[in-house]
Amino acid sequence: MTTRRNTKQLEAIRSVIEEAGRPLSIEEIHATASGDVPSLGLRTVYRTIRRLQEDGVVANVSVPGAADRYEPAHIASKHHHHFHCLVCDRFFDVDGCPGGLSTMLPEGFKLESHELTLSGRCAACA
Ligand SMILES: [Zn+2]
Ligand SMILES: [Zn+2]
Repeated sequence: MTTRRNTKQLEAIRSVIEEAGRPLSIEEIHATASGDVPSLGLRTVYRTIRRLQEDGVVANVSVPGAADRYEPAHIASKHHHHFHCLVCDRFFDVDGCPGGLSTMLPEGFKLESHELTLSGRCAACA
């Protein structure tokens, strides 16, 4: 019984992250997955996310000054950037990458990676 319940919780959380189309916070995952699993607790969401990360299914989006968000690992593995709405606090995926950032570096430096988060108001909040 316990195993079946755990599987149901895990599948509900996994599909919420998979179908969101944008990185979600723990609270957003909890709120949406609770529709499928009404007894779902926040601690279970945390534990399940950790397990999905260990299994390489889910990746965290870590942004200074904001709570971690979570997105499918197959999305995270493709280079992309995010938009953070400062009004509703939601994160969105954005298309494109400015590139050419190595021109910002001092002489002799070598660029290996970059992270970029745009912020402002999403369409619903603008
Ligand atoms: Zn917004
Ligand atoms: Zn980029």
